[in-house]
Parts: sequence; structure tokens; C-alpha cells
Amino acid sequence: MSVIQSMANQYRSGQRRVSDTIQSRLATITQQDPTIRAFLSVHTDQALAQAATLDQWFKEGRELPLLAGIPLAIKDNIHVKNTPTTCASKLLQHFIAPYHATVTERLLNQHAIIMGKVNMDEFAMGSSTENSAFQITRNPVDPSRVPGGSSGGSAAAVAANMVVGSLGSDTGGSIRQPASFCGIVGFKPTYGRVSRYGLVAFASSLDQIGPLTRTVEDSAIMLDAICGHDPLDSTSSPRPTPSFFTQLNPDVSGLKVGVPRELISEHVMPEVRESVMAALDRLITQGVSWEFFSMPSLKAAVSTYYIIAPAEASSNLARFDGVRYGHRADGCATVKEMMQATRGDGFGDEVKRRIMIGTYCLSSGYYDAYYNKAQAVRRVIQQEFNTAFAQYDVIITPTSPTTAFSIGQHHHDPLSMYIADIATIPVNMAGLPALSIPCQPSDPLPVGLQLIAPAFEEQRLLNLGLAYQQVAGWATLLEVHNA
Ligand code: GLN
Repeated sequence: MSVIQSMANQYRSGQRRVSDTIQSRLATITQQDPTIRAFLSVHTDQALAQAATLDQWFKEGRELPLLAGIPLAIKDNIHVKNTPTTCASKLLQHFIAPYHATVTERLLNQHAIIMGKVNMDEFAMGSSTENSAFQITRNPVDPSRVPGGSSGGSAAAVAANMVVGSLGSDTGGSIRQPASFCGIVGFKPTYGRVSRYGLVAFASSLDQIGPLTRTVEDSAIMLDAICGHDPLDSTSSPRPTPSFFTQLNPDVSGLKVGVPRELISEHVMPEVRESVMAALDRLITQGVSWEFFSMPSLKAAVSTYYIIAPAEASSNLARFDGVRYGHRADGCATVKEMMQATRGDGFGDEVKRRIMIGTYCLSSGYYDAYYNKAQAVRRVIQQEFNTAFAQYDVIITPTSPTTAFSIGQHHHDPLSMYIADIATIPVNMAGLPALSIPCQPSDPLPVGLQLIAPAFEEQRLLNLGLAYQQVAGWATLLEVHNA
């Protein structure tokens, strides 16, 4: 059941006013957010003003898009004009976006209501949202645990019913892993499917924007709004974008699924493995067949990513030099001193660590040994996916090898945090679309099921996700949230 669609129906039938929805979600933010801490800024006046206009339009019987009056949140590395874009960094603490990101503009064209900007790991580097310079976001399912990251604020805001959907960005798992930790749906589209104009770049060959929602239908509705070519992003694909929502079809019988053995290994928590196996059994009842296969390159994916992503980050983040954007250190005698002091105070430890790793890997003498080698491994990963997709329609893995961990558990051990990205990173390396859906209702903690398809086969993922949502039974729980 689509939360967006049922809200849209209520607006049209006059059963509910947009202003009431917005006021009630603002009240939820006031109640919940002092504990959850998902929001970095709340756009109260703007949201209420927009709601009042929409109520008038609905009363006049105007035809409006499905997203009209739907409360959404946006990750704080995506621009919303004239409001702060901080990337959860001290360096951009007072930076005001001079323009809308294309995705923002597209959502606003559909009259969606942006309730505010949400927390993240600084510059999207992390898997727990503990790397924010401002606050730690808590998991609404269990507030002693992390919501995942880096789009932890985007996931928590949806899971705590502060908004109906949100946008996140995903470079190595940052939409899917928080969706999995918070028990919601997260979609990373194919590289090139969604414009990144107005997204602050982390690793440009990997970054994608995508939606976090409660249901698969809502994911399709949001994707429909944001997908498609954008002349302002040269990497955006010129392919036509069909309406994923209107083409949703849960008949998936005959679909062949491959499960990489390496991702159901002993490193995966037993309860995650059991949930994934149970999910595969449920899919069999829908006429899907599955088998294990091997992708040996997966073992190298994390180490390869942690060369390529930092290398690109070290280059992308060079622009934060105190001259052009954001924070500038005071009282320095020379430009060099000013740049050093600005970057020294402005960036947090994880960002500095990535810049140092990246700069090292790109430096002369090490470039071939690290960066070029990593690019070669990246090609092997892509080839192994191509081979697998010659046999299987969809690849299924756990989204993360663990459920949500406790706040502080991995914070001082970067390597243990990096390894948690094992199942999501390969997808970005190959530029593929992937969907994370809840395997089970949250009892005790949510487990995410990751569905991966060949490039531009988003519809296949949404159809399979919908089929699973219907048999798994968790969708019925959503009616509570929909009240
Ligand atoms: N956890 C990964 C990292 O720290 C992925 C982050 C992301 O997708 N933005 O780089």
C-alpha cells in the first residue's frame, strides 16, 4: 500500500487538508527529534505557506501531481536554494545554497513539501551518521543504536514518521544500509539515471541520489519524479524514463535469482543469514527460483573502493580551501597558512583520513600501485556482474552483514566500519541499480534484503520488491504509520 497514494487520495477527496498533515508532521518532529536528531534544519514557514496554497488549489479542484502536499526531507548535501547545505561539516556550517539541485527542483515542480534538511556523516563519509560535526542521529527502532549512514538522517526521519519520504545519496551504500538498519525501503538508481547537479560531490564515479520510503510503491513514485536526463549533469543518461509507478507489476514468476555465496558467508550475522534465507523461500512461493553462485572479486571490493573513493574525494574536496566556499580561518599571515588552518579546523577526522589516503594513492610513485590497480580490479568486478547477469535476472544479498550496531561500537575502529559495506560497495563499482527492502518486520531489529539488477533495469527491482512486500506481510504494518 502506497503511503503517498493514500495521502494523495485523501487530499483529493477533501478528507484531509495538506496543512493538517504538515502540522502533524511538524508536531512529530518537535516530539521525536530531540531524541532522534535527524534534522539539521526545519523549514517550518516555507512548508506551512506551501500547504496553505495547496489546500486552496485542492479546494478549487485543480489537478495536481501525486507528490503534491507530501512531506519530504532532503539530505544535507543536496541543495535547496536559499537554505543551508552543510554536508554536516563545520567547513560548510554557514553556507547557503545559491541554487536548487535538479532533484529538488523536480520535487518542487510536483509540489512536494520539503520539511527540512537531514543529518549525515560529514561529506557522506561513513556508515553510522556518527561522523556528523553537529549531532549523532539515533535509530528510531532502537535509539541506543545507529541509524546507519551516511544518509542516517534521511532514514531516521522516514522511520520515525517525521516525513513520508526522503532523498539520500549513495556512493558505497549510503542509501541502502541506513534503509536496512531502520527497516524501510532504500533505492540506489543506476549511475546516470538521476542528475547529481546540486549534490556536493564525494566520489563522482560512484555517487547517485535516490529515495528512502516506507514502501516500494512510494519508492517508484519518488523515482519517477527525480529520474531523467539533465543537461546540467554531463553524466546523466539521455535514455527515456518510463513511469516506474504506473508499470509496477508484482507478477515475477519465472524470474531467476543468483545469490553470491561470498555474501552469505560466516562473516554475516546468523540472524541476517536466516532472514535472507527465509526471504528467498518466500520468493519461491511467487514462482522465483534461486541458486548460489560465486563472485570471487567481491573479496577485493572493499579495499578497491577505499582507494577509488578517497582518491576522488581528495580531488573533489580540494575546492574547500577557505577562498571560495564556507568557513575561512581568521588571523593567518599567508594564504597557505589560511588554507591549512581552514582545512585543519573545518574537516573532521574521517574526512581528513580519506583525503590523506586519497592523496597518497594518487601521488607519483604510488599511482600505478594503488589507483591504477584499483581501477583494474573495478573492471573485474564489473565483468563478474556481467557474467552473472547472463544467467540471472536479479542478484540478491543481505544489504549489510549485520543489523544496526550500538552507538560508539565501531566509531574508533575505521576498518571494522569499512568492512560493513561489503555487500553494497560492489554495486556502485559497477554502476548498477539496487533496492534494499525490509526482510522482516522489526523484531527485534530490521534486516535488509538487497536486490541488484543490470543497469537501467530499475523496473525489475521494483516489481520483485513489490512481490516480496506483498508476501512478507510487513506492508500491512504500514497502515498504522499511515494514520
Ligand atoms: N560507508 C561508505 C563510506 O564511508 C559509503 C558512504 C556513501 O555511500 N556515501 O564511504
